[in-house]
Amino acid sequence: MSQIEILRDLYPCVHCGLCLQSCPTYRQTGDESEGPRGRIVLMQGIANQLIEPDDFGAVQHLDSCLGCRACEPACPSGVAYGAALEKTRSAIAKKRPQPWAARVLLSLMANPRLRSPFFTLSRVARKALGSWNPARFIHPAVTLLAGTRPHRITTAISTPPEARAQPRRRKKVIVFTGCVMDGLFRHVHDATRRVLRANGYQLIEARGQGCCGALHAHQGDLKGARGLAEANLAVFQRHPDCSIVVNSAGCGAALKEYEDLLGQTGEKLAGRVFDITEFLMEGDLRVGASLPMVVAYDAPCHLEHAQGVRAQPRKLLRSIPDLELIEVPCSDQCCGSAGVYSILNPAMSAALIESKVKSISKLGVEVVTTGNPGCIMQIKAGISRSGSDVSVTHPVAMLDWSYDRAGFYDGVM
Ligand code: SF4
Ligand code: SF4
Repeated sequence: MSQIEILRDLYPCVHCGLCLQSCPTYRQTGDESEGPRGRIVLMQGIANQLIEPDDFGAVQHLDSCLGCRACEPACPSGVAYGAALEKTRSAIAKKRPQPWAARVLLSLMANPRLRSPFFTLSRVARKALGSWNPARFIHPAVTLLAGTRPHRITTAISTPPEARAQPRRRKKVIVFTGCVMDGLFRHVHDATRRVLRANGYQLIEARGQGCCGALHAHQGDLKGARGLAEANLAVFQRHPDCSIVVNSAGCGAALKEYEDLLGQTGEKLAGRVFDITEFLMEGDLRVGASLPMVVAYDAPCHLEHAQGVRAQPRKLLRSIPDLELIEVPCSDQCCGSAGVYSILNPAMSAALIESKVKSISKLGVEVVTTGNPGCIMQIKAGISRSGSDVSVTHPVAMLDWSYDRAGFYDGVM
């Protein structure tokens, strides 16, 4: 059944090669097998039972795929590359056990009783280590253990905030908590909630949410991903009048694709899930105080390519007075984080982040902003290892900072 689905996803491919230059691993290696067109041929071979799912020669090229999906929007034929990759990896996982590091991480993320102490230890380590971040001397993946410090910037306000009455309460929203975002980036969740309240939205706490299952699906553990998706769906079905706002690009893409994962059951979330920038830019966004600084935006793959949310984060950042927004060159190219990729494929991951950090260092910016926890950690680790102290944070944290300086929270939160 899944073999037929893989072939159906890949059927539109006419092997034109227009996707090749969008692929980070192809650009690094120049090897056809390390690009989408070559991988499509390998996946078709596995689905047609011409190649064994544990054939090392073939599978190494599928293992080295980031799953970044940059090849999807580049394809004029509409090949569902990401969906085919997950199903192929599921077929591979049935023949070949997952690497132990992936198994440990997937188990941690799926189980709140295991991941909670893990993240608590991480936060304690982050606080204790302060500015001495050993992760910069080791591999970027190690930042998962130390987390990323919230930024501290002290630029003076130069422009007074727009004087406007607080808007009246509107839609009800749930902030999706997830696993890594909740464990290591709770300050971004807090910023998200403050910004939503300041724009008049009514926040509803939906208890029982967990990991979205994206990491599991990307690794081919579709059974594990479905279990997590069903648990989240049950929570959201108890709040049918609420929109679900997500501040992690990877989780947002997964939630929007529950329909593919769960079939008709997943349809119940259709049209209710929004990235935070997408959601805020649909309404009449309040304008806060000035942040006179130069900020670079780097697009998370699962926002830019998988969700097609491109203009909104940039518009949101440009709405902040005096903030000069520039783009990280090749911002749409993966940073090499890609879920557990940086742990399983350290050499390619390091090559990708080094090239991104090199571009960032030429920009002379104070802050890099990107809307995904894995990207924040990977870019921050790369920047720290280069010896720079440029901050890396989420776009909504910038808006929150501007609102805070405008006094929107005074006496309210
Ligand atoms: S995936 Fe699309 S762009 Fe790439 S070779 Fe196939 S048809 Fe061409
Ligand atoms: S998902 Fe990313 S790494 Fe994989 S083939 Fe497509 S562009 Fe290349």
